[in-house]
Amino acid sequence: MNSQNWKDQMKTALRSTRELNDFFQHEFVETPYPIFLPITLAEKIRERGIDSPLGKQFLPHAEENKTTGLFDPIGDEEKSPLPGLVHRYGNRALFFPTKACPVICRYCFRKNELTENQTLFKAEIESITNYLQEHPEINEIILSGGDPLTVDNKILFDQIAWIAEVSSVKYLRFHTRFPVILPERIDNGFIELLEKIKQRFDVVSLVIHTNHADELDPTVMNKIEMIRKMGVKLLSQTVLLKGVNDTAQSLSKLFLKLAENAVQPYYLHHPDQVKGGMHFSLPLEKGREIYNTLRDQIPGWAIPQYVVDLPNGKGKVPAFNPEKTEFSGRLIDRFGQHQDYSSP
Ligand SMILES: *Cc1c(COP(=O)(O)O)cnc(C)c1O
Ligand code: SF4
Repeated sequence: MNSQNWKDQMKTALRSTRELNDFFQHEFVETPYPIFLPITLAEKIRERGIDSPLGKQFLPHAEENKTTGLFDPIGDEEKSPLPGLVHRYGNRALFFPTKACPVICRYCFRKNELTENQTLFKAEIESITNYLQEHPEINEIILSGGDPLTVDNKILFDQIAWIAEVSSVKYLRFHTRFPVILPERIDNGFIELLEKIKQRFDVVSLVIHTNHADELDPTVMNKIEMIRKMGVKLLSQTVLLKGVNDTAQSLSKLFLKLAENAVQPYYLHHPDQVKGGMHFSLPLEKGREIYNTLRDQIPGWAIPQYVVDLPNGKGKVPAFNPEKTEFSGRLIDRFGQHQDYSSP
C-alpha cells in the first residue's frame, strides 16, 4: 500500500458511507457531507479505533445532521475581490489554487463549500496577477484552499510562476494538511519545486495543519525534515476541537513535538461555529483555561497564538486575555471595535 504514489492514493480513497462501513466493519450514519479518506490514513485510524482523536476528526457522525451553526462562519465571501483570492489584510492575500482536499475533516469551517477538484482557469489566474500588480501593498501570497497541494507539482509550479512575475510579492506561504494526511505527497517533484521557488522569494514558509501528536508518526516527521532541509520556514496551525485535543496535556504533547522538530507552533484556532461541525465546539472560557494551563507546562517558544475568527469577515483576533480566564462575551477587533462573541 505504501508503495502507491499520492495520486493513486487519492484515486483509491474511501468515498462513501458504504465503503467506510465495509472497511471499518461499522454502521456509519449518512450525512449531507462528502466522504473522502485515503486508505493509508484509514488504516491508521483502524489501528487506533474509530473513537480515537484521529477517528473523530475524519469519520462521519450523527451530530453533523444538526442545523445549528453558520454556513460560512468566517465570512470569506465578503473579502473576495476575485474567484480564487481573498484579501482581508493589507499586505497579504490568500490564493486558492483549488477547493479540493486530501481528506474531509468533519470540523472543517468550509465544510459547506468544499467541492470536487477544480483548478483555476488560466484567465482567472491572469485576473489575479493583474489584481496583485494593482495592489503592490500585497507582499505575501498564501496558498490555501482546499489544500493547495491537491494540485499536482507541474500545475502548482505554473501557478506560482504567474505569481512570481509580480515583483512586489516577496513571501510565499503554503497552508497544507498533506504532510500529516498523505505524507507521500512530499515527493521529489515537490522538493524540486521548493528548491526552484526558494530562489525567487525572500521567505518560503509552510504551515502544517495538525491537531494531535498521534498524527506525527516517523514517516510524517521524515517528510517534515526533508522540507526543513530545503530552508523552508516551518510553522503549524491547530484547531482546538472538543473530544479530540481539548486538554492542556494533549496540546502540550503536540506543540512540544513540533517545536522540538523545528516546526514553530503558530496558531491555535478556537473552533468556528460551522453548520454540521458544532459538536466540536467548546466555550471560549474552556479554551482560555486550557491555554492558561499550557503556559505552566511548556516554554513560550512552543506556545502558538490562540485566536478566534470573528464572523462576517472581521478576521482573527487574540482569544486570550492574560489577566483573567473569565470571559465577558466581548472581543476587541483590530479596529478597536467591541464585537459580541457568544460561545456555544
Ligand atoms: C489567517 C489569514 C491570513 C494569514 O494571516 P497571518 O496572520 O499572516 O497568518 C491571511 N488572510 C486571511 C483571509 C486569513 O484568514
Ligand atoms: S484540510 Fe482544511 S480545508 Fe480541507 S477539509 Fe480539512 S480543514 Fe477543511
